[in-house]
Amino acid sequence: MVSYKELGLVNTREMFAKAIKGGYAIPAFNFNNMEQLQAIIKASAETKSPVILQVSKGARNYANQTLLRYMAQGAVEYAKELGWEHPQICLHLDHGDSFELCKSCVDFGFSSVMIDASSLPYEENIALTKKVVEYAHKYDVTVEAELGVLAGVEDEVSSAVSHYTKPEEVVDFATRTGCDSLAISIGTSHGAYKFTPEQCTRDPKTDRLVPPPLAFDVLDAIMEQLPGFPIVLHGSSSVPQEYVDMINQYGGKLPDAVGIPEEQLRKAAKSAVCKINIDSDSRLAFTAAVRKVFAEKPGEFDPRKYCGPARDLMEELYKHKIINVLGSNGHAE
Ligand SMILES: [Zn+2]
Repeated sequence: MVSYKELGLVNTREMFAKAIKGGYAIPAFNFNNMEQLQAIIKASAETKSPVILQVSKGARNYANQTLLRYMAQGAVEYAKELGWEHPQICLHLDHGDSFELCKSCVDFGFSSVMIDASSLPYEENIALTKKVVEYAHKYDVTVEAELGVLAGVEDEVSSAVSHYTKPEEVVDFATRTGCDSLAISIGTSHGAYKFTPEQCTRDPKTDRLVPPPLAFDVLDAIMEQLPGFPIVLHGSSSVPQEYVDMINQYGGKLPDAVGIPEEQLRKAAKSAVCKINIDSDSRLAFTAAVRKVFAEKPGEFDPRKYCGPARDLMEELYKHKIINVLGSNGHAE
């Protein structure tokens, strides 16, 4: 058993309370390799933004759980080296799908876990979430739960259609499970293809897809039911067109990739939405930078020469999200 407190990590409780009061959201960036982690920490340290390092079950299998824990511990030390006096870094399991997985993460130094039982019937979702909460809270680890279903594909999580969270269920769910935050479904979606062209309109000037707006009426109804309760948005990459264009220009093929417009995320960040998950955008930035190097310098075979530019582009992306979309900069001195 390793406590996250020994690693210098923090759970989400205070982060979220401050974010709701301050009208901003905490970035939750997924990572599974060193370059991503370096970029996240550099961007957070430079902007003094609290940050959630997010690891999916797939990423944990990819990177190895022991290595990941030491990477997170290393991240805290690296942040201090960069001059960030009091780093606010949380290590969070994204989409835990069983009690055993969540328990294993709690035992292994995570400071926060998500139990995603949203695909189960309502009462089963409550029972499993409650079981995870009871275990995690013994160690002061915070728990994110989910109600409603997001469309899209991300690692092992996938659904063809979305079902909005029902506002009339949230009080009962939060009370009976004791969860610390709630991921909801209001039209965000996993992956780089969040909407089909049929669900979108087209901008006549640019011929680009314009996605349907988020269901802010559902968010408002949820916030009315649960005033001041931390709300989480998954599937909130904006799929920047510049990266999609770069990928396509340098030999890639991502037709009609589309995400959530940043203005809508900015609006959400000002509400009780206090955690916004971003994964695909960083994958796109990484891929765009690597493709560019490969196309322009076919003789290059030193991974540092293409992972380095990928890291730089991701850092730029993370800073942009922190400052211009989430507004979390300056909230962790
Ligand atoms: Zn998700």
